[in-house]
Amino acid sequence: MKFPLLVIGGGPSGIAAAIRAARFVPGVLLLEKHSRLGGLNSYFYRNKTLFETGLHAITNYAPPGAKAAPLNRLLRQLKLKRKDFSFCQQYRSEITFLNSESLFFSNDFNLLKTEIQEKFPHCIDPFQRLIDFLDTLNPFIPSPFRSAKKIVTEILGDKLLTEMLLCPLMYYGSSHENDMDLNQFAIMFQAIYEQGMFRPKTTIKDFLDHLIGHYKNFGGEIRKNSDVVKIIHKNSKIYGVELHSGEVIECDQILSTIGFDETRKLLSDEQVTVLPRLGFTETIYQVKADAHLMLPLDKTIVFFNNSEKFSYKRPDDFVDYSSGVICFPANFDGIEKKPCFEIRATHLANYSKWKAISADKNAYADLKVVSSHKTLRCLQNIVGNFSSNIVYENTFTPITVERYTAKIAGAIYGSPVKVKDGDIGFSNLFLAGTDQGFLGIIGSMLSGVSIINQHILPKL
Ligand SMILES: Cc1cc2nc3c(=O)[nH]c(=O)nc-3n(C[C@H](O)[C@H](O)[C@H](O)COP(=O)(O)OP(=O)(O)OC[C@H]3O[C@@H](n4cnc5c(N)ncnc54)[C@H](O)[C@@H]3O)c2cc1C
Repeated sequence: MKFPLLVIGGGPSGIAAAIRAARFVPGVLLLEKHSRLGGLNSYFYRNKTLFETGLHAITNYAPPGAKAAPLNRLLRQLKLKRKDFSFCQQYRSEITFLNSESLFFSNDFNLLKTEIQEKFPHCIDPFQRLIDFLDTLNPFIPSPFRSAKKIVTEILGDKLLTEMLLCPLMYYGSSHENDMDLNQFAIMFQAIYEQGMFRPKTTIKDFLDHLIGHYKNFGGEIRKNSDVVKIIHKNSKIYGVELHSGEVIECDQILSTIGFDETRKLLSDEQVTVLPRLGFTETIYQVKADAHLMLPLDKTIVFFNNSEKFSYKRPDDFVDYSSGVICFPANFDGIEKKPCFEIRATHLANYSKWKAISADKNAYADLKVVSSHKTLRCLQNIVGNFSSNIVYENTFTPITVERYTAKIAGAIYGSPVKVKDGDIGFSNLFLAGTDQGFLGIIGSMLSGVSIINQHILPKL
């Protein structure tokens, strides 16, 4: 049987792309290598509890009436009803650069403006100029890399404020070391500061289940445990894919959402050289509700930097504890209080070091425990002591991300080189998702939809 469209990868971008296409064409097939969909944004069970792999917060919050907002546009493109989701908004989040300054922001952009007025009074007019400048940009037009750090420092005239504003945007969406592309900065600035963050009331599983059910209602098909090992092509045209099992599936078009270099590997028998990538560790602490008494009840996410200069790059050591992100998934408006809640922490990590030690299973496991303890000490200095209330903890390294999503070097934000138009030189194979340059859950879903609209639907 020949399928009109194969979507490779069942993460957020693949699911969104498959729904969009299935609305208009029968015979869309989504191929996922794992036994569960969701990609980096999936879930797992431990200690009789469902844990989310990736979710801190979904960016791009929009109220129901904001018709042009990316979130509402996405729902319309996928024919999803907003009332079928319950979106809980963040309380407020903080950027704290220890020994110097702290800034709060929420889904009301005025909070950030007021904070800047109070703490960086000389920057309030330049900050308005920055907003006006970003409004004039069309960040979706492909352009060469422009340093956001340089341009924002020039506009604001204050290095500390520039670094503080960059910190959350880098942690939630930069594949570049110590900088961001200006277009990416503009997209993330709007997604995080101007629009804000939210999460589903229950878990990512319900969110994914709803999307998958919706896709199947349009007649879409899914094959899990289907690892694509080869894309069959001749003269810049693809004919199908080969699965790990040896099965060949023929098709008219392919949308790949697994990454640019990861897709190139499926097209060639030769070694594919890749640029160095950023890795992260993520530690989840499940703690008893009593710990609430010692922890901030009013903060959703804390982005911190403890060193003189904020460094967003591959550390020389296994993990860089000098900066990171602390998320309290229970601190969103409308989340039910439970007997236990989670604290999640992210730091930059060195993939090569973790890769080398992972050859020795015991040494790798021991190092994860050490890393979790170091993260705990770091967190306690920032949010308070909760160690006596921990009931379960789990650390993922870049090796975990690589194992479960096949991302090269376990790099959550993929390649530093992005293919903005999704065109990788084939007439019927296109790229969407993280390596198209739209990061995070909403970004990657919008990417899937836009590539289907731009390249696939016109040919179906
Ligand atoms: C720890 C962590 C925290 C995060 N926090 C947030 C957050 O708070 N908010 C937010 O918006 N985003 C967050 N993200 C990022 C978010 O999860 C990603 O941006 C999003 O999942 C990217 O979606 P994607 O579909 O482009 O790629 P992926 O999610 O990587 O999906 C790709 C899919 O392709 C499959 N695949 C790979 N190779 C093959 C193959 N050969 N054959 C078949 N299938 C294949 C993979 O198994 C995977 O399911 C986080 C991620 C992590 C890991």
